Amino acid sequence: MSAYHPLSAEEAIQLARSIPGRFPEHAELECREIGDGNLNLVFHVTAKNTADSIIIKQAVPYAKVVGESWPLSLDRARIERLALETEHKICPELVPEVYGYSDELAYTVMEDLSEYTIMRRGLIEGQAYPKFAEHIGEFLARTLFYTSDLGMNQQEKKVLAGQFVNPDLCKITEDLIFEDPYRKSDNNNYSEAIEDEAEVLRSDTELHFEVTLLRHKFLTQAQALLHGDLHTGSIFVKPDSTKVIDPEFAFFGPMGFDIGAVIGNLLLNYASQIGWSSDEQTRAAREARLIEMARGVWTHFESGFRLLWNEGLQDEMSRTAGYQDYYISQILKDTAGFAGCKMIRRIVGLSHVADIDTIPGDKGREAAQRKALAIGKSLVRHHRSIQSIDDIVTLVEQAS
Ligand code: ADP
Ligand code: MG
Ligand code: MG
Ligand code: MG
Repeated sequence: MSAYHPLSAEEAIQLARSIPGRFPEHAELECREIGDGNLNLVFHVTAKNTADSIIIKQAVPYAKVVGESWPLSLDRARIERLALETEHKICPELVPEVYGYSDELAYTVMEDLSEYTIMRRGLIEGQAYPKFAEHIGEFLARTLFYTSDLGMNQQEKKVLAGQFVNPDLCKITEDLIFEDPYRKSDNNNYSEAIEDEAEVLRSDTELHFEVTLLRHKFLTQAQALLHGDLHTGSIFVKPDSTKVIDPEFAFFGPMGFDIGAVIGNLLLNYASQIGWSSDEQTRAAREARLIEMARGVWTHFESGFRLLWNEGLQDEMSRTAGYQDYYISQILKDTAGFAGCKMIRRIVGLSHVADIDTIPGDKGREAAQRKALAIGKSLVRHHRSIQSIDDIVTLVEQAS
């Protein structure tokens, strides 16, 4: 079973059996492929008569969304596994445990989180997650601090960064987020009803300037190990627990890209509310809750990050007066800008979000799309002058 090939269900079962301590010796095992992503196979292996189970995620050498015509390096499975292990060491409660892997077969065996809900699904159903901002704020503060030059030895950081060179997946981001929405591209995907919006995105050179600055940061700033794809579809939630999965886009990049991914996706759900609920009161309550969640993601990140900085700084020069405040204010600006880029691309780019795409009526869907674009563009346009999370909230409310 050594040379690369997609695993069969039978092979997944054999593999599960070979992981020490996971299943009783003679357990009868069953396997289902449950992947809903575009890039990978996900096998759920369960024991028939006990609660034991595991997940095996295997990369395939092409993106499923466009058939086999879009080749993608299998090395991303190694990167995902290494990111899961690195993040799990830093945040054991917030990341699934890895039980085994093969770089050659491009799979990772990990903890089964089937009792959790994918957050995007939960938000679409109107669920509240009062602990989410605190949990994800802690994930962001810890993973970003401890993999940066602030929280780790600078030479060791360079060596670690060398293990996260991820050109194929970074190229997806560079193309789909920072380029395609601003020009004519076969990758773009939007309904004719918003052609006027797409045309504005293509011709607004002031907006292009801001996007180009953000793109430059993404291309060049190896600030910390990023998850790289931290949307609400990469987060499993329960009322009292949060787990981050799917870090195959991991690489060393600007911290605000991850924080902006979370906030941008909360704001996409916020923008979708206009198309979902007919009852004004329910809608206003959900919108207010989403704004508070977005605010909480930043405030929990910031307080956690400052605490780590004050207690665990590895770098003498970074104790310079004023540097911490400056550093965090830059992260906030980046967060706003990247959040905006992520919102824009989910409306006109290749890959959309169910929060908005599954709105049943054309009118409501279009209104939500326009609202998401208005917020996204405003965040990108103004990101360099943002000074506080309240400024972000104000821009969101003014654009709505
Ligand atoms: P992709 O990179 O293809 O998007 P994901 O890692 O997001 O793959 O996994 C796709 C889906 O498989 C998830 O939305 C979830 O339903 C399921 N899944 C992935 N990892 C786990 C896990 N550890 N436990 C339970 N289900 C999982
Ligand atoms: Mg995924
Ligand atoms: Mg069972
Ligand atoms: Mg993925």
